Amino acid sequence: MSNNRRQRRHESDGFTCVNCRCQVSGESWGTRHRNHCPVCLFSRHVDETPGDRASVCRGPMAPIGIEVREPEKGGEWALLHRCVRCGAIKANRIAGDDSERALLALALRPLARPAFPLDDPRT
Ligand SMILES: [Zn+2]
Ligand SMILES: [Zn+2]
Repeated sequence: MSNNRRQRRHESDGFTCVNCRCQVSGESWGTRHRNHCPVCLFSRHVDETPGDRASVCRGPMAPIGIEVREPEKGGEWALLHRCVRCGAIKANRIAGDDSERALLALALRPLARPAFPLDDPRT
């Protein structure tokens, strides 16, 4: 796909968040491929498959939701990101130091802002 594939392994050593500009360390417990900001959960479109850094898009990826994986085994959470630039949607494991408040706010977003009235007397 890409003709300027670069082998820059050190990109996982850290990055500056595209959204809130905080410095993010590449090392974190819970993941070897820290790819999103623990504060605002924004990511960046750098991978085609997790960890390969093969994408040429480099657009900011906004957190859009939570996916619960294997609920019968305790339900590991994954973050869904959508690329602001190209629209690609990716799932990423959450990291041990992600903001729990930001994760919960994301998970509760459809409940906090339902797309239909909850108190409709006709239902
Ligand atoms: Zn951030
Ligand atoms: Zn993209």
